[in-house]
Order: sequence, then C-alpha cells, then structure tokens
Amino acid sequence: MNILVTGGSGFIGSNFIRHMLNKYPDYRIINLDKLTYAGNQDNLTDIENNPNYSFVRGDICNPDIINEVMQQVDHVVHFAAESHVDRSIDDGSAFVRTNVLGTYTLLESALKHDIKRFVHVSTDEVYGSINDGSFKETDMLVPSSPYSSSKAGSDLLAQSYYITHNLPVIITRCTNNFGPYQYPEKLIPLFVTNLIEGQKVPVYGTGQNIRDWIYVLDHCKAVDFVLHSGSVGEIYNIGGGAEKTNLEITEMIIEKVGSDRSMIEYVKDRPGHDLRYSLDCSKLKELGWTPEYDFDEALKETVQWYVENRWWWEKLKR
Ligand code: NAD
Repeated sequence: MNILVTGGSGFIGSNFIRHMLNKYPDYRIINLDKLTYAGNQDNLTDIENNPNYSFVRGDICNPDIINEVMQQVDHVVHFAAESHVDRSIDDGSAFVRTNVLGTYTLLESALKHDIKRFVHVSTDEVYGSINDGSFKETDMLVPSSPYSSSKAGSDLLAQSYYITHNLPVIITRCTNNFGPYQYPEKLIPLFVTNLIEGQKVPVYGTGQNIRDWIYVLDHCKAVDFVLHSGSVGEIYNIGGGAEKTNLEITEMIIEKVGSDRSMIEYVKDRPGHDLRYSLDCSKLKELGWTPEYDFDEALKETVQWYVENRWWWEKLKR
C-alpha cells in the first residue's frame, strides 16, 4: 500500500506510522502535517530516515498540496484535526476550518484520484453523553462541544461521500487514547508531567465524569485492522473497555508517580462537560479485533515513558 497519513506528526498519527512501518516493511507512507502546536517532528525521529517514509509539511485545507500528494498514494488514513476540547471552547474557528473544511478538501481530492480506501478517524465524542448503556454505530450524533461538533461535521461529510459518490470511506469512532507522545495539555500527560514537576493537578468539578480509555497502540492496531479488513461504507466503534471517572484516573496516576492526594486541585467545571462516554464495540470485535493491552499495565508504562522522556515534553510545557 501507498498510504497518505494526515496529522502523522501528532500523538496518534505518529504512533500509527511507527506501527505500520514496523509491521509492513514494503508499505510506503507519506505523512502530511501542518505542524501546528500539536504537531511535533520529535515524535518520529526514529523513523525519519526510513526509505519508505516521507514527510510533507502542508495544510489539509490547501487543495493544491493535497492533490499533489494524493496522486502518489492509493489509501488515506485521516487523523489531522484540531483535537483539544478546551481550546475549541476558547476559539472554535480553527476547529471548523481544519476539521470540516480540511476533511472536505481531502474527500474531494480522494474522489479525483481514485483512492481505494479512505479511513476517517472520528471520535466517540460525536455521540455526546450517555448516562447508562453504550452507544452503537447507528445511534444519533448529539455532540456537545465545538470540537465534537466539528468532528461530527467531518464524520457526516465522510459518510455523504460514500453514499453520494461511492468513495470507499470507512469511519472509526474511538474513545480516549493515552500513551507516549501525547501533547501535555491532555489529561494523562498533563497530570503525569505536573506531578513529576511537583505541581498540582487540576480536576474539573468533582471529577465524576466518566471516560473509556484505550492504549494508543490498541487504537492504531484497530485502524490498521479496518484499513485491511473493514467494509467500505461502515462505521466502527473502537474502545478499550476501561471506563473510569476522572478522579479514579487521577488517583491511579498519583499512585504510579509516587505522589499524594494533596496534589489534587478541584477547578471550575468545563462548560458543556459531557458526563459519560461509552461505546458498544461488538461490531468490530465480531470482525476479529479486540484490545490487547491491560489498562493498568499500559498506564504504568505510559507514566514511566514520561518519567524517562523529559526532553520530549519539557520544552512543550514552557
Ligand atoms: P493531535 O492534536 O495530537 O494531532 C493532530 C495533528 O494534526 C498534529 O500533528 C497537527 O499538526 C495536525 N494538524 C492540525 N491541523 C492540521 C491541518 N490543517 N493540516 C494538516 N495537519 C494538521 O491529535 P490526536 O490526539 O493524535 O488525534 C488524532 C485524531 O484522532 C483526531 O482526528 C482526533 O479527533 C481523533 N481522536 C483522538 C482521540 C484521543 O483521545 N486523542 C480519541 C478519538 C479520536
């Protein structure tokens, strides 16, 4: 395969590229990334000289650049997005531009260039909050934040290109990822690095919001799996099966870093904060994918990675 990976210099995209190049030595990957604050070439230093890897700095909203790279590939895995909910509350403009217009630009170009499979990486947040039970792929999208609304817009656009134009789109909707190379504004790396530096950790409200957590490599393997074995036009939920309240996660991190509960600082809740996300992942499991990593073990290794790789995150926090 010749694969265009968008947003490959971010957290999940860089873990995905590393996974793919290791697993498929004859695949070629072009990483197209704008290198926003969240894009970081340090994430891929170990593979930048791999002859099957190339990097193009570019914006997914720019049709000229997109058409140029699209003609060199036959598959697309689309990760590029503005991804941080709090930033979308402060200013949603980049979210609408990149997530909606950028996805539209990619879909149009994929259509022109006869792309064989286009995997659109969406999120569990498009469904909104659920108090009991779990969302199935057929449930309505009721997103709450400008981030999740812009992702829902891109998700629906991707669906429309399959229905209207027969573009071979596959959509994945995954729960909260954690692991190495995650920008230290997101809960787990923020809390781990704050505690390493002796700073408090800000917990929203009373910390009762529930998220399902998945180790990033499990997500990458699921995207690899649907790229090869998924059916076009389908949507697949991806989850780790590890639902925790934010307070539980915080306490687990505190314990693993060797800190104590006095470091918790309860702060004013995020506006529109979804109480609980939960996915029914039986569709993908029936097809043959299942998460491999144990949550507690993966969290321990992730904490250890941030302890050992201060060079990576210290400059991002300054
Ligand atoms: P990230 O913020 O770490 O990385 C995003 C990458 O996209 C960065 O490298 C950035 O430079 C690039 N980018 C942003 N705007 C761009 C543009 N206009 N053109 C080209 N590149 C651009 O995000 P992430 O956490 O790795 O998430 C990747 C994808 O997975 C996103 O689509 C996100 O919605 C989705 N997702 C994330 C999670 C999670 O827990 N992190 C869960 C489910 C789905």
